[in-house]
Amino acid sequence: MAHQWRGVIREYFDRLDVDSNTKIITLGEGGTPLVAAPALAQLVGAEEVYLKVEGMNPTGSFKDRGMTMAVSKAVTHGAKAVICASTGNTSASAAAYAAAAGIQSVVLVPKGKIALGKLAQAVAHKAQILQVKGNFDDCLDLARDLAENYAVHLVNSVNPDRIEGQKTGAFEVVEFLDRAPDIHVLPVGNAGNYSAYFKGYKEDVQAGRIKHIPQMWGYQADGSAPFVYGTPVKNPDTIATAIRIGNPASYDLALAAREESQGRFGAVKDPDILWMHRFLSQEVGVFVEPSSATGAAGLLQASRAGDNLAGKTIVVTVTGNGLKDAAWALKDERGKEIKPQIVSNRAKEVAERLGLA
Ligand SMILES: *Cc1c(COP(=O)(O)O)cnc(C)c1O
Repeated sequence: MAHQWRGVIREYFDRLDVDSNTKIITLGEGGTPLVAAPALAQLVGAEEVYLKVEGMNPTGSFKDRGMTMAVSKAVTHGAKAVICASTGNTSASAAAYAAAAGIQSVVLVPKGKIALGKLAQAVAHKAQILQVKGNFDDCLDLARDLAENYAVHLVNSVNPDRIEGQKTGAFEVVEFLDRAPDIHVLPVGNAGNYSAYFKGYKEDVQAGRIKHIPQMWGYQADGSAPFVYGTPVKNPDTIATAIRIGNPASYDLALAAREESQGRFGAVKDPDILWMHRFLSQEVGVFVEPSSATGAAGLLQASRAGDNLAGKTIVVTVTGNGLKDAAWALKDERGKEIKPQIVSNRAKEVAERLGLA
């Protein structure tokens, strides 16, 4: 009989901070594919590279793993509304899980800096959406303030339930590989996901499932790289809107994770992110949003800078689905719009155009 994946809370019930009183709100998140990417392995000179394709989650990003936990807890505690600040994917996820729970969601997004697909998701799931005059960091300050003083429950990744749910990504990697990778690479914005994977791997070490924590490599966009510069960035700027964050909420957690995993942080330029975004689509077959290509772009940068990856098994989390921010795929390397050619309905002409005749 076919087995239906039951969502991360039911699949990992014993390994999450839940009990029999928890009202589980799920859309079947998690259980995402770990896809072998031989073209990327060859490009960076590694033994094996796998992509953890988080765009396959119900709302198209890894945020769903944390949101099932955060909204389940909120509902269990009687919340009637949830609030979040978002560059887009958190709001899409919060709105969907609130809809499933039958409660209200409020999302605060930075004015003019949200991808159309993500805004459409929040609207579709009936969120109350407010565009705030300011950047993501301003939105988060406001959301925290409202949650502290009014009857709304905060579901940003400063809420530890989010990190708790997101750690299941590491559990799945370990179960699939039957060991830990040598290196785990991911894009970093608020660093919640970086911290969550570390937590998941650490728990797997403590439970004796794996022998070591992989080196955690986190990459930021260079116009928005507080971990690399060692200080918050006032006006973060990058086309990678999901990681356009100057003052990461999980700063201290992530620093500790890097230290203990002997990992690193790096910064990648926007053109290199877009190059990798195209490479993943064209050579690997996985369509991600630009921000999601930042980890792989960082891996390539490390390889080009002389890091020897021979013999290494590497997992790269690609965080969100390409359809959310599809406009980038419709531009060529020079930013020119790509349009399909127009032809007649005569086979001979079409064959000639395709170079078949
Ligand atoms: C949220 C998000 C990130 C950044 O994750 P953090 O936990 O904030 O570091 C990266 N990529 C995508 C697509 C996201 O939605």
